[in-house]
Amino acid sequence: MTRQQALNEIESSCKTQFENALNELDKAGIIYFISEVKRTLTTQLLYALQGRLKIGNDIDMPFETLRRLCKENGAREPGKDIITKTLQSNHFSGKAIDIVPVIGSAIQWTYTDANKNLFQSIAEIMKRNGFRWGGDWEGWKDYPHYEM
Ligand SMILES: [Zn+2]
Repeated sequence: MTRQQALNEIESSCKTQFENALNELDKAGIIYFISEVKRTLTTQLLYALQGRLKIGNDIDMPFETLRRLCKENGAREPGKDIITKTLQSNHFSGKAIDIVPVIGSAIQWTYTDANKNLFQSIAEIMKRNGFRWGGDWEGWKDYPHYEM
């Protein structure tokens, strides 16, 4: 999504910090992609199902159908395997943002040895502006995720 779309969707109490963080990212020359800010419960459910399907293979629904449903419901990360493990999310109120680095033209959905420095650089700037990082969570980590 564009910077302007993200700024329109973010909850107003987080807007200034978010804008400052984006300015810092730009200034640092970090290329990033904002994949999602606001999310509906339907989309969250579909994400959870998508992850569950991948882990357990116990839901009787073709993966492509699920991806299509995700897309139709505003999901912007239909290609990711495990997107969420929870049905509660700060994305509902627009107090969460998913940002990933871009290398060349390749969006880095997954945290790897090759891109971890970029993920860390983004995290440093976002945290300095008051956001908590999903990469700091105990247990399962959500590297693209930031929230307030
Ligand atoms: Zn997120």
